Amino acid sequence: MTTATLAGSCPECETDLTVPPMVPGETLSCPECMLTLRVEDVTNGKVTLQMVEVQLRDWGQ
Ligand SMILES: [Zn+2]
Repeated sequence: MTTATLAGSCPECETDLTVPPMVPGETLSCPECMLTLRVEDVTNGKVTLQMVEVQLRDWGQ
């Protein structure tokens, strides 16, 4: 049996999310609260998500 999706939940609004296979470091947006979430870990078909503080890319110049 192959798991085609991963399960996780939004750390902000606790919505259960089903996401395509991802690797740590990838990001997605929560469809409920629109926060940007980063994949921290993938274990046994479950993803651990952490919210990412959105920063304007204006640093460095
Ligand atoms: Zn959310």
